[in-house]
Amino acid sequence: MTSGRAVVIGASHAGAQLSAQLRSSGWDGDIVLIGDEPYLPYHRPPMSKTYLADTVGIDDLLIRGTEFYEKQNIRVRRARVERIDRAEQRVVLSDGESLSYDRLALCTGARPVRLGIPGAELRGVYYLRTAEDVEAIRADVPGSRRAVIVGGGYIGLETAASLRKLGLDVTVVEAADRVLQRVTAPEVSDFFRRIHEAEGVHVRTDAAVVGFEGDDGTGRVAAVRLADGEMVPADFVIVGIGVRPNVELAHEAGLAVEDGIVVDAQGRTSDPRITAAGDCVTYHDVRYGKTRLESVPSAGEQAKVAAATMCGKETTISALPWFWSDQYDLKLQIAGLNTGYDTVVLRGDPTTDREFACFYLRAGDLIAADCVNRPQEFMFSKRVLAQSLPVDRGALADLDVPIASQLAAVRSKTTP
Ligand code: FAD
Repeated sequence: MTSGRAVVIGASHAGAQLSAQLRSSGWDGDIVLIGDEPYLPYHRPPMSKTYLADTVGIDDLLIRGTEFYEKQNIRVRRARVERIDRAEQRVVLSDGESLSYDRLALCTGARPVRLGIPGAELRGVYYLRTAEDVEAIRADVPGSRRAVIVGGGYIGLETAASLRKLGLDVTVVEAADRVLQRVTAPEVSDFFRRIHEAEGVHVRTDAAVVGFEGDDGTGRVAAVRLADGEMVPADFVIVGIGVRPNVELAHEAGLAVEDGIVVDAQGRTSDPRITAAGDCVTYHDVRYGKTRLESVPSAGEQAKVAAATMCGKETTISALPWFWSDQYDLKLQIAGLNTGYDTVVLRGDPTTDREFACFYLRAGDLIAADCVNRPQEFMFSKRVLAQSLPVDRGALADLDVPIASQLAAVRSKTTP
């Protein structure tokens, strides 16, 4: 099918890519992209990086400008979708309008996990997901000296780096015994801790936050209370403790939902007229099994597949998951998912250098790699993972064996 009306809910990475791809895949009917944020789809990763550090404006971050949507005849509608009526094939918007659809795509993304502790409602306690969140934080920066970040994951650490750039005194408070505990090996966590401490960030691990204390009478946060009773002074707080997929619309419409909206390899939900893509989706990854990703490249890939499916074409989600994080002068690039690794191989010394690669192996096979300022190792890892090539553990660790030559060696061994 390539005519009729396609409605896309959620105007961010997945929604923008899906709408554009629908048009380029031959959809010649209406395309309506519905989003509840006040801007055209914009790049979200800079929210904790350059947008927070105030080095770029929102116009520089738009995924595509107004002209693109006009030229492609993609109607961008600012509203919140309140309900999907599958029997009638309609969506009901917050402003009362309802729109019929022939094909529907859910690109509703994710939202920050909220802390339900005393003082969580105080002014100056922020979450960081949208441009509006960042604009509110930035408005607080000039009158502030001390910022506390709750959560030592990627977003927390990127935020710490950006706030240091702005000259603030920054403390990162992490409940686990190391930063990035959920996503990296201890060696990589130790590296990032070392770098942040060298940049002047106070990193507190094994430190659970149990409440926020207000400034008497002002309703503003003044300190963060830790489980051991210690109070960490704060002029503002940013909480970055993970996200939850926005699955409620799908769930209420009776679609299959687990950790995310369940889609098949073609991006189809349990209703064949409805696809889904991006952070809100759970799918079966060919390499890693059941997966829900929070990554721009994956949102884009899934959106392309969903758009093709909506146009009646056969493609499947097969791209390798990858991700990146920028902190100070460090570019971390991650290929694959390290869940279930049994061995770590380091290339370079993370205890002294500002560049190295950490390869994750399971039963001798590479399953993922964290590469810090090591683009060649990242490209190598992507190739090995995409083609399921074998690796030589000794050579991986040996800086005298160039990484490119290892790919060539593997190729000559595996091609008859
Ligand atoms: P989202 O970007 O979450 O967009 C969903 C959109 O749908 C939102 O605009 C939401 O408001 C809207 N919406 C939801 N429900 C409705 C409704 N009912 N009606 C209308 N609109 C609705 N990824 C990387 O790969 N690299 C990075 O360096 C990186 N850095 C990040 C830094 C930060 C601060 C954050 C928050 C994320 C970062 N990510 C990064 C993750 C990346 O931004 C997400 O994976 C990506 O945005 C997912 O895109 P999406 O379109 O699926 O969802």
